[in-house]
Amino acid sequence: MKTKFIFITGGVVSSIGKGLAAASLGALLEARGLRVTMQKLDPYINVDPGTMSPFQHGEVFVTDDGAETDLDLGHYERYTNARLSKKSNFTTGQVYFSVIEKERRGDYLGGTVQVIPHITDEIKSKVIENAKGADVAIIEVGGTVGDIESLPFLEAIRQFRYDRGHGNTLYIHVTLVPYIHTAGEMKTKPTQHSVMELRKIGIQPDILLCRCDRELPQEMKKKIALFCNVEEKDVIQVVDSEHIYAVPQALSKERLDEQVVDKLNIWTKAPDLTPWQNVVETLRHPGHGEVRIAVAGKYVNLTESYKSLAEALTHGGIANDCRVYLKYVDSEKIERDGIGGHLDDVDGILVPGGFGERGTEGKITAIQFARTAKIPFFGICLGMQMAAIEFSRNVCGIEDACSSEFTECGSPLIHLMEEQKSVNKKGGTMRLGAYPCSVAKGTLAYAAYNATEISERHRHRYEFNNKFRSTLTEKGMILSGVYKDKDLVEIIELPEHPWFLGCQFHPEFKSKPLQPHPLFRAFIGAALLHRNGR
Ligand code: GLN
Repeated sequence: MKTKFIFITGGVVSSIGKGLAAASLGALLEARGLRVTMQKLDPYINVDPGTMSPFQHGEVFVTDDGAETDLDLGHYERYTNARLSKKSNFTTGQVYFSVIEKERRGDYLGGTVQVIPHITDEIKSKVIENAKGADVAIIEVGGTVGDIESLPFLEAIRQFRYDRGHGNTLYIHVTLVPYIHTAGEMKTKPTQHSVMELRKIGIQPDILLCRCDRELPQEMKKKIALFCNVEEKDVIQVVDSEHIYAVPQALSKERLDEQVVDKLNIWTKAPDLTPWQNVVETLRHPGHGEVRIAVAGKYVNLTESYKSLAEALTHGGIANDCRVYLKYVDSEKIERDGIGGHLDDVDGILVPGGFGERGTEGKITAIQFARTAKIPFFGICLGMQMAAIEFSRNVCGIEDACSSEFTECGSPLIHLMEEQKSVNKKGGTMRLGAYPCSVAKGTLAYAAYNATEISERHRHRYEFNNKFRSTLTEKGMILSGVYKDKDLVEIIELPEHPWFLGCQFHPEFKSKPLQPHPLFRAFIGAALLHRNGR
């Protein structure tokens, strides 16, 4: 089958759930047996989101091949089996960067380099390249229609229909239909205007996904259809749902996938949505109630910065038939007030990844509390590093143990390796993407994974300092996971504790609602036991 292209744009306002809609459509098409690939085009000038502030951009999602990407890619991976890579996300900055490089090399033979065709051709070739081998490629265009920045992307996707024809291309536009309380009704005008903007630049949407906080009455659908030049059955409501994993089913009920395969002339079986139904059923009626997990971090006001983590914890709950209540605790508050009131009402404590010294002493205090009060503890990346430091200081008596990320300290438990120090001068020293890890039998990690060879994703610069290995293991710490090639410590645990584990990698990037990650499943399982024993 020739690859079919589905383009998803957004109108009216941003943060309207385009990414979730795209991911859910991907899930529905996979449930029909199709091979799906997904891609996000971001209209900003930054070359990638790796260096963008989490305050502005939310989480940086990392792929197996080490791309630092937009958090929407996290949704795509959680909802589908699409294998995402560096090619799955690109920005205006990247497009201009490659075109300017080509121009400098003389590839354009002295011609005038212009937005059309040079920039648009570059965009199209990146879309086509990523779609190779897939039955259907779903491409989400970031930003909102009408933004100056998105224009080259929209022009490029307009050309796709010109190049490949109807039946091979599909335009889905996501809009908002607000309910206006003073008028006592829903308003279609913003949708009309947004579609008008699209049509002005030559794109007639085939399907409208209308986000709304209540059912969209049939006469409203009729009105939108007439004004926006789409068929009435293609005006699809997406009513706010109590859970994001209920979206695929909700969209299927509105026949989105049926319309899509029909318009693209694809014959498929009916979708099997039983696995999604089971997920939603567990979330609605968990057999084992709720566990409370504290996440002691720095960007605590910004749940967007911990998107994958929060989802992975929810998945851990699904695997244990329980709901997970997340209590975000600002680690600086722990520094100020101590544990009291912050951590004494939870069943598990998680210290997530992070950068910089701020709040780390509070994290260490939280870890000491989890260790001594025997509360299940999960440390991820910086969280694992702080767990190693806590153990060194309070169990091994290395009082000045610390990370050389923060200071040039006497006992750098966490440090840069010699070979990294020289690379440092050139910048770009992060260990990014998937690395293999060997797991020792008879450990918590092995019990969770039930495998001795695993692969997990990294995003960090500093490493566990091998000089201190024996000091820590003599006092009972177990180094249960190692990256053999470079002899790097990847997982640490404490056997004299119900569940205490830290990992240098980010397991949250590989967890899915249909395949909860083994470590999150085990951690939530331990928290459940702790709750029952309280
Ligand atoms: N700041 C630490 C490092 O660079 C941890 C990074 C992280 O938690 N992602 O090694």
